[in-house]
Amino acid sequence: MAARLKASADAIGEGTLMAVAPGQGILTHRHADGRLQTYTALARPEPWFDAIDFRDAEAALARIAAEFAGWASHLTALITTSDADPVLRHIHALPVSHRWDRRPGLTLLGDAAHLMSPFAGEGANLALYDGAELARAIVTALGDIGTALAAYESELIPRLAEIADASAQNLVQFFGADAPYSVVSMLAPKLL
Ligand SMILES: Cc1cc2nc3c(=O)[nH]c(=O)nc-3n(C[C@H](O)[C@H](O)[C@H](O)COP(=O)(O)OP(=O)(O)OC[C@H]3O[C@@H](n4cnc5c(N)ncnc54)[C@H](O)[C@@H]3O)c2cc1C
Repeated sequence: MAARLKASADAIGEGTLMAVAPGQGILTHRHADGRLQTYTALARPEPWFDAIDFRDAEAALARIAAEFAGWASHLTALITTSDADPVLRHIHALPVSHRWDRRPGLTLLGDAAHLMSPFAGEGANLALYDGAELARAIVTALGDIGTALAAYESELIPRLAEIADASAQNLVQFFGADAPYSVVSMLAPKLL
């Protein structure tokens, strides 16, 4: 793929390229084996997506690329020149302040506990961490599941609040009215 899309691959470089604007963007990554993987983000009402037949990959990609008319061709080529069929993924998020009351014998982890937009890049990491922490709490409580779940949740809630908040803020930085300048401001201090 990288050879066929040389101009795109050159623009991406060795890592990730994010081209964003209010309500839309092209986010693409070059894997270590040279494959390019692209997310195309569009904030559109649900019926807009319902009107696209994703079983007709070529037409679906052309329809999506049309939303990027006027963008650099090495970016739009990442949408229209694809070896893989497009997968539509709606982005949902629980409210940042989402909480639940303790229920005997029951708890939540991973996205079930803290579904958030992917723009902190932490959802899977958190799910794995939750699992490890839950196991630790159960072992530490020596089989007292009520104590274990209370201890697990007392640490989970502040952990998820911090990252869900960062993810919600990043979503605005990436696709809000000030994009792409908001992303430049966010990343510039980290690049110095
Ligand atoms: C576009 C995108 C990019 C992302 N990028 C990143 C990233 O860079 N870094 C990161 O850390 N995270 C990222 N995430 C988030 C990450 O994918 C999720 O946070 C993670 O997959 C959550 O894991 P989970 O096990 O909690 O839930 P899931 O991965 O959703 O797993 C739940 C499983 O349960 C199954 N299931 C549901 N109902 C039932 C049922 N009734 N019976 C049996 N099985 C059932 C589902 O089919 C699914 O397989 C991204 C997400 C998206 C959408």
